[in-house]
Amino acid sequence: MTKFSDLNLDPKVLKAVEEAGYETPTPIQAGAIPPALAGRDVLGIAQTGTGKTASFTLPMITLLAKGRARARMPRSLVLCPTRELAAQVAENFDTYTKHLKLTKALLIGGVSFKEQEQLIDRGVDVLIATPGRLLDHFERGKLLLTGVQIMVVDEADRMLDMGFIPDIERIFSLTPFTRQTLFFSATMAPEIERITNTFLSAPERIEVARQATTSENIKQGVVMFKASRRDREGSEKRRLLRAMIDAEGEKCKNAIIFCNRKTDVDVTAKSLKKYGYDAAPIHGDLDQSQRMRTLDGFREGTVRFLVASDVAARGLDIPDVSHVFNFDVPGHAEDYVHRIGRTGRAGKKGTTLMICTPRDEKAFDAIERLVQQEIPRIENPLGNTASETDAKGDDTPKPEKKSRGSRSRSKKPEAEKAPEPKADEAQAQPQEKPGKRDDKPKSDRNRGRGGRGRDDKVVGMGDHMPSFIALSFDERRAG
Ligand code: AMP
Repeated sequence: MTKFSDLNLDPKVLKAVEEAGYETPTPIQAGAIPPALAGRDVLGIAQTGTGKTASFTLPMITLLAKGRARARMPRSLVLCPTRELAAQVAENFDTYTKHLKLTKALLIGGVSFKEQEQLIDRGVDVLIATPGRLLDHFERGKLLLTGVQIMVVDEADRMLDMGFIPDIERIFSLTPFTRQTLFFSATMAPEIERITNTFLSAPERIEVARQATTSENIKQGVVMFKASRRDREGSEKRRLLRAMIDAEGEKCKNAIIFCNRKTDVDVTAKSLKKYGYDAAPIHGDLDQSQRMRTLDGFREGTVRFLVASDVAARGLDIPDVSHVFNFDVPGHAEDYVHRIGRTGRAGKKGTTLMICTPRDEKAFDAIERLVQQEIPRIENPLGNTASETDAKGDDTPKPEKKSRGSRSRSKKPEAEKAPEPKADEAQAQPQEKPGKRDDKPKSDRNRGRGGRGRDDKVVGMGDHMPSFIALSFDERRAG
C-alpha cells in the first residue's frame, strides 16, 4: 500500500501531514499526487469526503515551496464555488504549510476588499477565491493572473449548478496557457467535459468510487408520506420531521437537515426553533459572518440542527455529524449522494433519513437507481399517515376548527370521525407551544386510515403513547 512517504512530497509537507495524523493516502491522493508533482494536469472525479482537498493541496505546496511570490501576481489559484468551501480549503492550506513559508489570501464575498487587497499587494503564493470575488478584484485592476503557475478548480459540478462556468472560462483565459491545472468534479456533466477538453492538457484522470455505493457505515431510511391536504404539506412534513428526530432519541447527536429551497430552509429552521430544537439555517442569502457563526456553533455543538440548502452545505467538512435528514427528496440524484456523505465520515457510523411525498417518487426512483440499492422504507413515527391512504379523504379540518368540518369536500374515511385529542404532538414534544398557524401541532387525524398502516406499530412516542393511538381503525369506530 502506498504511504505518504512514498509520494515525493516536500519533507516539511510530509511532516505536517504526519502531524495531522494521516498515514495512508486516500485513493484520490494516491492517484492525483504523483502526476501533479510531475507537473501534469489532473482531472479528479471525486467528491468531498474522499480527501480530495489534500490531493491538490499537498502537491501544490510542494511545488511552490521553491520560489517567491511577486506583488499582485499570485503564483497559484484555487477556485471554489462557495465561501465556506474556500474557507475550508484555506484551513487545509494552513495545516499543511505550517512548516513552510508560503503566503495565502482568501478572496471571498462578505469580507472587505481593502484587507484582501493589502494581502495581494504584498504578494501571495496561494490565492483561494470564489469566482465572482476574484473577477471583482481583477476588474478593480488590483490583481494580475499572468503569474499563475498552478490553477485548481474545485467542485466544478457545483460551479456549473451555480452558473459560474462563464466566470471559470474567463479566469482560465486570464491565466497563462502554460499553467498546470488540477480540476475536480464529483460528476462529469457534458458541460464539465467540454471545459476539461478545452482547458486541460492531456490530464491524468483519476476517478474514485462514489461514497454512497461504498459507504456501508451510513444507515439509510425513507418515510413515504402523503400530506392530508396539499396546502398542509409543509407543516405536516415539519411535524413529521420533528417526530423522526424524536424517534432517533439520543442517537441523534446532531444533524444536518436538507431542504431543496432557501425559503424552506428558513421556515424549517424557524419552526424547529419554535418547538424547542437548537436549529439554525444556512443558505446563500445569509451574510458571510452569520454563516460562519452558525457553522462554528454547529461544529462546537451549540447548534444541534443545521438546516441547509445544497449549495451552502456543499463541501463542508464537519467530521462528526450523526444524522442527515432529507426534508425534501433532492431533485438531482447526485445531491442525495452529497447530502448523505455529510455523515458516516472517517469510518464513523451515520444515519440518514428522508421524507418522500408522492410528488417526489420520480426523483426518489432516480436516487435508488444511482445508489444501486433499495432505501429501506421506515415506519412513519407518527403512525401511518397518508402514505398509503386515499387521496380523496384529504380535506380534514384541523381539530381546533371543528366547526369548519362541514366544508369537507370529499368522503372521509370513517376513522377520521373518531375523537382526536391533541395529545399526540404534545407527547412528542412536551415543551412545545403552538405558534404560527402553519406549524400548529395538529392531531394525527390520519392515523389508522386505510392501507397497511392500520396495524403498524407506533414508534417515536416514548412512554407516553395515548391509548387511542394503539386502537385499530375498527375498534375506534366501534368505541
Ligand atoms: P475532503 O474530501 O478533502 O473534504 O476531506 C475529507 C476529510 O478527510 C477531511 O476531514 C480530511 O482532513 C480527512 N483526510 C484527508 N486525507 C486523509 C487521509 N489520508 N487519511 C485520513 N483522513 C484524511
